[in-house]
Amino acid sequence: MTHIVEMKGMNKYFGKLHVLKDIDLTVEQGEVVVIIGASGSGKSTLIRCVNGLEEFESGHLKVDGHELAPKSGNPKALAEIRKEVGMVFQQFNLFPHLTVKKNIMLAPQKVKSESPTIANATAERLLNRVGIGNQADKYPSHLSGGQQQRVAIARALAMEPRLMLFDEPTSALDPEMIGEVLDVMRELAKEGMTMMVVTHEMGFAREVADRVIYIHEGQIVEQGKPDDVFDNPQNERTQAFLSRVL
Ligand code: ADP
Ligand code: MG
Repeated sequence: MTHIVEMKGMNKYFGKLHVLKDIDLTVEQGEVVVIIGASGSGKSTLIRCVNGLEEFESGHLKVDGHELAPKSGNPKALAEIRKEVGMVFQQFNLFPHLTVKKNIMLAPQKVKSESPTIANATAERLLNRVGIGNQADKYPSHLSGGQQQRVAIARALAMEPRLMLFDEPTSALDPEMIGEVLDVMRELAKEGMTMMVVTHEMGFAREVADRVIYIHEGQIVEQGKPDDVFDNPQNERTQAFLSRVL
C-alpha cells in the first residue's frame, strides 16, 4: 500500500493553545477519510498542516514521500507538496478578477509551465466534468455558490493532484446547492481520488468515506468504518457528538 499522508506524533500550538495533540494518522492511496468533530476541535488545522498552510511544532509529517519538517524547515518539500495537493475551502476563494476558465488555467501555466492551449483544453474538460461547461467565460460573482464551489474543485483538479483536501466545502452553501457539490465529490471518490474531507454532512460521510475520524479537542479519539462509528461509537465523546448532530 502507498501511504499518501503519514503523520506521527504531530503536535501543533497556537501560542499556548495546544491545538493538535500527538496525532498519528496514515492515509492510503485512494482512501477517502472524513474528519468530524465539534467546532474548534482542530479539524481545519489538521488538514491545513497537510499542505503546509499551518506549521507544526513537533512530530513527523510526510506527504506523498515528501517530509515536512516541524516549523516549516523544509521549503523544497513544501513546494512539491503544494503542487501535489489540492485544497477546497468553505469560502470558495476564487480569483474575482478572472473568469471561471482563467481561474482554472492560472496555476497549471504558472506552476507547471503548461501552454495556454493545453491549459485551456484542460479547463474546458474539467468544467464539463463538474457540470458547468457553459459558465466558462463568466466571472465568479455571477455564479451561484454551488457553481463557484464546483469551479474551485475544477481549479484544484487542474493541477492533477495526488490528494484533495476539503474543509467544509458545503458549509457556506444554501441547502439546495449542497447536493450538486457533494455529487462532484462523490464522483471524484469513485474515480479513486485520495481525499481528506472535513464535513458536517453525515449522510455523505456514511456513504462515501472509507474511514471516519472523530476529533475531540485536538485528539483523534475514535476512527473506523462509517457504519461502525455512526451506529456503534465506542467513545463517549463520539456518542455525545453524534447524538447532537445525527
Ligand atoms: P475546527 O476546524 O475543528 O473548527 P480549528 O482547527 O479551526 O477547528 O481551530 C482549532 C483551535 O485553534 C480553535 O480553538 C481555534 O480558535 C484555534 N485557532 C485556529 N486558527 C488559529 C489561529 N490562526 N490563531 C490562533 N488560534 C487559532
Ligand atoms: Mg474548521
